[in-house]
Amino acid sequence: MNFHVMTLFPGLIDNAMGESITGRAIKAGYISVNAVNIRDFAGNRSGSVDDYPYGGGAGMVMKAEPVYMCYKYICGQIQERNQGTAENRKPPVRVVYLTPQGRTFSQKLAAEYADEEDIIFLCGHYEGIDERVIEEIVTDYVSIGDYVLTGGELPALVMMDAISRLVPGVLNNCISAQTESFSGSLLEYPQYTRPEHWRDRSVPPVLLSGNHKKLAEWYREQSVIRTALMRPDLLENAELTQEERELADSIINNL
Ligand code: SAM
Repeated sequence: MNFHVMTLFPGLIDNAMGESITGRAIKAGYISVNAVNIRDFAGNRSGSVDDYPYGGGAGMVMKAEPVYMCYKYICGQIQERNQGTAENRKPPVRVVYLTPQGRTFSQKLAAEYADEEDIIFLCGHYEGIDERVIEEIVTDYVSIGDYVLTGGELPALVMMDAISRLVPGVLNNCISAQTESFSGSLLEYPQYTRPEHWRDRSVPPVLLSGNHKKLAEWYREQSVIRTALMRPDLLENAELTQEERELADSIINNL
């Protein structure tokens, strides 16, 4: 998986992605991060990439040409890398514009993006970006939630983190991504680690039993209980047995 990020703040992207699990995944070659500074394509000495909005109004708008030139530069890099390979015949790379106006990001969308070879993210700043370049290059519009941030860098990082975890090899234990919250419309069961007794609380005895069948049943039941308590809306699309449905309903009716 190769992430390309068009941004005014490449340091933010490189620093955050260079840490922890994503940092190790970069070193091991499972993912790559190519943060490209839009300002390098300003086309003027001052490096100015924004201007006043036509029609007036508050704030500044990022200009079309630097964004477009940055995009062409990244396309050139991808093309050069793929020269003479079968990859070169693939359809154009998806360009994701991070915007509060987009479709809300989800685990399902993360899984869809994890199948891509390359993704280009476009991070806006100020009041946004000249609509004409957005129309010209963007294929996907994605929001990370119904609130407005100062720039698209944090949303891009959120997306890259979630997508990276689904790229084979990135997590040491590939089972963990499959059992996690949202992977099957249910939230994950609660987790415990040593010591067995902490203050006046003990680890549920079933976790010490070594009985795999009982453990699997407990995990499943806890997932249903937790989802009913925390996110009952998710149960609408969950595949539950009659017994599980009754358990969930009894919890929801007592909330
Ligand atoms: N004027 C824009 C509007 O009302 O839709 C908001 C611009 S915002 C201040 C600047 C940039 O931050 C946007 O271009 C976008 O890239 C990013 N951004 C802000 N909130 C976001 C969110 N919830 N999800 C994704 N990107 C966001």
